[in-house]
Amino acid sequence: MNIESCIFCKIVKKEIPASIIFEDEELIAFKDINPIDKVHLLIVPKDHIESLFTCEAKHKELLSKMLLLAPKLAKENGLEGFRVMINSGEKGGQEVFHIHFHVYGGSERLAKI
Ligand code: AMP
Ligand code: ZN
Repeated sequence: MNIESCIFCKIVKKEIPASIIFEDEELIAFKDINPIDKVHLLIVPKDHIESLFTCEAKHKELLSKMLLLAPKLAKENGLEGFRVMINSGEKGGQEVFHIHFHVYGGSERLAKI
């Protein structure tokens, strides 16, 4: 998938709609279109980075910013507990090749892993 056809780049550029719940210069967060829990959000950098596999040391501040946003958005969306998931690579379950953190919760208790 290249940047032109990337669905998350299109959301960043507002070419397709999304339920955006947070946005600043570097990040955007929106509701997952196919939620796996009562609350299911995606935290996405505005720059197109394919996956955790293609992250480098220069991305460390961006990655920590994404991680620190997770509890803030979880709380704002009424969660007392949540899980962050980063599917990485096709064999890691990644379908959209623009890095994103899944933040989800709301069930009584998340399944033990
Ligand atoms: P992954 O399998 O980790 O790549 O996750 C991709 C996620 O993006 C899935 O949970 C999809 O439901 C979600 N998704 C795909 N298209 C959209 C969209 N247009 N708006 C919101 N979420 C989307
Ligand atoms: Zn992209």
